[in-house]
Amino acid sequence: MLVRSLILKTSALPPVERMVRHSRTFKPLVKRFIAGDTLDEALVPTIELLQRGFFVSLDYLGENATSAEEANRASAMYLSMVRRMFDLPEFKPGNPATYSEGKPENLNISIKLTQCGLDISDDFAYGNYLSVVEFAAEKGGFVRVDMEASGYTDRTVKLVQKMHATHPNTGTVLQSYLHRTDDDLNKLMPTGIRLRLVKGAYLEPPEVAFPDKFQVDEQYLKQAKLMLKEATYPAIATHDEGIIRDLNAFAEKERVDKSKFEYQMLYGIRRDLQESLRSEGYNVRVYIPFGDSWYPYFSRRLAERPANTLFILKSMFRG
Ligand SMILES: Cc1cc2nc3c(=O)[nH]c(=O)nc-3n(C[C@H](O)[C@H](O)[C@H](O)COP(=O)(O)OP(=O)(O)OC[C@H]3O[C@@H](n4cnc5c(N)ncnc54)[C@H](O)[C@@H]3O)c2cc1C
Repeated sequence: MLVRSLILKTSALPPVERMVRHSRTFKPLVKRFIAGDTLDEALVPTIELLQRGFFVSLDYLGENATSAEEANRASAMYLSMVRRMFDLPEFKPGNPATYSEGKPENLNISIKLTQCGLDISDDFAYGNYLSVVEFAAEKGGFVRVDMEASGYTDRTVKLVQKMHATHPNTGTVLQSYLHRTDDDLNKLMPTGIRLRLVKGAYLEPPEVAFPDKFQVDEQYLKQAKLMLKEATYPAIATHDEGIIRDLNAFAEKERVDKSKFEYQMLYGIRRDLQESLRSEGYNVRVYIPFGDSWYPYFSRRLAERPANTLFILKSMFRG
């Protein structure tokens, strides 16, 4: 956790960002995690994965729109993503009655409320979010709201709950590192909102998040087991093979059918595990990020795995 926090702080320094953005050395590492600058580029691996039986969630990178124009631009991109999704022959929509078990959509989009304008106001962000969810609902599309830093958690949960009351084709994400997540789970599971469980990727103080990795892992396993039994089509988003194997055994013991939940992993991470789970008959959704504002997302991926950062440091010292 200490190393993670150090990497997140260092990568936020402007000279480090400049160097990583502009140096050719980092291009292969950036390409490993980011599908491209444009939607067209992101659709190449999307189609390939869909044809191989994987599910996909498309993510347009960027966060914290600081003006109405910026937020509207991001929302226009979300609408384009939905339009292109509908046009793909590979797209299989979800069951519009429930958007849950039985027939999950094979392709959906993930959005961020700060990109929709949450820093401007809740109502402003909600308006943009609503236009995307309404458009997606026209042909069985689903919109997942990513969870951002803890300062936004409460508002995100409330806005998604409000949206879900009239539009079942939306869901969100809970982060196991937050102290509040047990309560959020107990509140949200009975509503039927589809939830993705993640460990949590932001730098958070100990007042709001567990500082030790082993505590986060313990929380994650406990919450994922609860979700497998009680949540509506939960998404277990992790690359932690130990946890995944434990959950597979748990699901089998509790007779939770493989069609009742999905695993989710990030583009470029543990492809071997993605393949093996898929070949064992699990639903596996790959989260495909694209866009030119890739730096914050990229830094979080570096912080999760010090070996990625070591690669960068070695290149720096090699000159
Ligand atoms: C589909 C998806 C959506 C997500 N959405 C959100 C979100 O909305 N909000 C949020 O806060 N977080 C989100 N995350 C990120 C999440 O919170 C974690 O930071 C991230 O998944 C790493 O944690 P882990 O569960 O894989 O476990 P870890 O214990 O961090 O990693 C387990 C193993 O996975 C592999 N691994 C993990 N990360 C990397 C990496 N970057 N490079 C190479 N190998 C790696 C390593 O083998 C590692 O040993 C999302 C993650 C996924 C998979």
